[in-house]
Amino acid sequence: MDSQNERLRELIARNWGYTTLRPLQQEAIDAELSGRDSLVVLPTGGGKSLCYQAPALVSGKTTVVVSPLVSLMKDQVDSLRTTGVNALQLDSMQSDSQLRDARAAILRSEVPLLYVSPTRLLSSSFQSLLQKIPIGSFVIDEAHCISHWGHDFWPEYRQLSRIKEIFPGVALHAYTATATERVRQDIIAQLGLTDPAVLVGRFDRPNLVYRIIPRRESLSQILTVLGRHQGEAGIIYCIRKKDVDELTDALQAKGVRALPYHAGLSRESRRDAQEKFAQEECDVIVATIAFGMGIDRSNVRFVLHSAMPKSVEHYQQETGRAGRDGLEAECAMLYSGSDGILWRSIFEKGAAERATGESLAPMLSHLADIDRFCRGAVCRHRVLSEYFDQTLPPGPCGACDLCLGETTAVADALIIAQKILSCVARVKGGFGINHIIDVLRGGDTERVRKFRHNELSTYGLLKMHSKSEIRDWIYQLLSQDLLAQETGEFPVLRLTELSWDAMKGTVPITLIEVSRKTESRAESVSWEGVDRGLFEHLRSLRRDLAASRGVPPFVIFSDTTLRQMATVRPSSLDGMHRISGIGEVKLRDFGQGFLSAISSYSDERGLTRDQRAASTAKSAPRPTPQKSSSEKIRAAELFRRGATIEEVAGQTGRSRSWAWETLAACVESDSMPSIAPWVHDQTVNRVREAVGRVGQERLKPLYLDLEESVPYDEIRVVLAFLARE
Ligand code: ADP
Ligand code: ZN
Repeated sequence: MDSQNERLRELIARNWGYTTLRPLQQEAIDAELSGRDSLVVLPTGGGKSLCYQAPALVSGKTTVVVSPLVSLMKDQVDSLRTTGVNALQLDSMQSDSQLRDARAAILRSEVPLLYVSPTRLLSSSFQSLLQKIPIGSFVIDEAHCISHWGHDFWPEYRQLSRIKEIFPGVALHAYTATATERVRQDIIAQLGLTDPAVLVGRFDRPNLVYRIIPRRESLSQILTVLGRHQGEAGIIYCIRKKDVDELTDALQAKGVRALPYHAGLSRESRRDAQEKFAQEECDVIVATIAFGMGIDRSNVRFVLHSAMPKSVEHYQQETGRAGRDGLEAECAMLYSGSDGILWRSIFEKGAAERATGESLAPMLSHLADIDRFCRGAVCRHRVLSEYFDQTLPPGPCGACDLCLGETTAVADALIIAQKILSCVARVKGGFGINHIIDVLRGGDTERVRKFRHNELSTYGLLKMHSKSEIRDWIYQLLSQDLLAQETGEFPVLRLTELSWDAMKGTVPITLIEVSRKTESRAESVSWEGVDRGLFEHLRSLRRDLAASRGVPPFVIFSDTTLRQMATVRPSSLDGMHRISGIGEVKLRDFGQGFLSAISSYSDERGLTRDQRAASTAKSAPRPTPQKSSSEKIRAAELFRRGATIEEVAGQTGRSRSWAWETLAACVESDSMPSIAPWVHDQTVNRVREAVGRVGQERLKPLYLDLEESVPYDEIRVVLAFLARE
């Protein structure tokens, strides 16, 4: 096994140009190599494909990959072929002669990776073809499509349960990014996996910055977000087709290269939009949720929800399409309390049309979950992880509106909360949010008069605040369980045990200001050292090459690779080869072209060459207490011996920011006696004083209070150190 693994590592370096593996890739590869069934759950961008593609090349047999969409297969096959791998696909769009050629190549055992649709796989002609060749294993991509409990149920996938009957001796590997336990169990049962290795990765995506912004003037807020991403790729999700059309028109009128995508458009216009987006001829797709399954563009820099999606799973999946290359990306949502009501009416209408008497309960409970998520005042990364039963190390994440300090805490939160809670207590139950707001604002409504609520002591207590402000606070109290909402035909508010503690003033309460600043994130590390002009220059070269080969640009090189080129500016093919993501075939095919482009650009501007590569910023996953994380253990050992950040990054093959984050985790959990080797004593004292002034809930205020002189990484380590005191 060891020598086989070594060979595989060499092969990955040679073909893909990757010298390190991502979390769980090794374990997934081991299952492939040893022929043990497996279920691999890795988040979008986690690197699932490499896990089965690389082993397929050493097996000497054909690995059959089942994928739901022709476009998904095409992207994979294009990518592999550009890497020098003879992959093929069989789909319904191919001509007879193409099919004949493909069959011949398969019979000659020249095809290590064969992509097929589920229907094709189980057709009798294909079965008889498969009987004639040695099959390495079956791989089911997007395996959650087999489950009713998933959110993308694909009826054709159900038939895949027959694979084990027909090919009992061949290993079966299921891959998905969908996380819930129920779906996982269903996949194992449906496919009949035998004693599978179940590998579940971390769902947190540290490179995504989450922001939830109260929706006021939708269009101008959308343009503000777009302004942060000029010329970059993004997806804007809307609830209804009509919203898609209107928004696309408005954006086009402002000169944005945007295209619409929804089920009401013709198949051609949808395909056209998808292709233009993949080819980088269009920057922004405005879509209903139908868009995304077939899209593999890895450099999507933002996903904007113009309204709340209908479940946390959808949110996770849709935002997951951003930043698959591991570079930072923004996920912004414009939220309004009315979004839930709109969804509800859509569900009801759909159910009435289908007239199957189905229960709306599961959908409504998903809706309640996402609503609570949006209103919350707790770190977005943390809440999302917890939703999927995973935990994050303590401390601010540095990548959500709340932790970045873009929201401001309300100074007299306790008093405001007490006013709201006593109002709920005084009306004695049975009233919903709107009525409570009316009473608190001293409104003169029919209901107020009817129930004589104008005589309550809480009447008019929050007169000076707007309706929407009070509504947001109520939502925040709900998210902290300081108040509860009973769902029924009319949702009503009621007190909880915690409410009484809050009224007594014995629990801490945070409320956040709703008028949020929408500043962009502090200079993002992933652009460190990158010459942006050169990056754009290389991007256009990549676009031309892609067009001439008829493949999407990311198939040529990922943005990560281009940014490294624009940082290092190699002066030789050798230097080029050292950049991550450039294997031998790509070096041969594109190396010289990119080298010349870098030369002429650098010469014109007098730029020095062969610079050191900066870290790939946020691309490294957050350190976790995961057992399998051998790099983390190694890093901890090194730190204990006083190794520097650079040394640890070098020896583990991870980025500097990963090393810093790991250091913070070690300091906190492994009781490192001192942080003197990494942070100056004076800095520790300064941070301690700053904490005294502005608290430690959020990083940004600390950073600003320290006059931007202490990097975030160091602040995090000091906080971890102080947490132990
Ligand atoms: P998934 O299918 O899990 O969403 P992909 O297989 O598309 O993810 O991989 C996401 C990106 O990460 C791709 O650009 C891929 O080439 C890259 N990648 C995969 N494995 C590695 C690795 N070990 N090192 C660097 N990049 C990797
Ligand atoms: Zn956070």
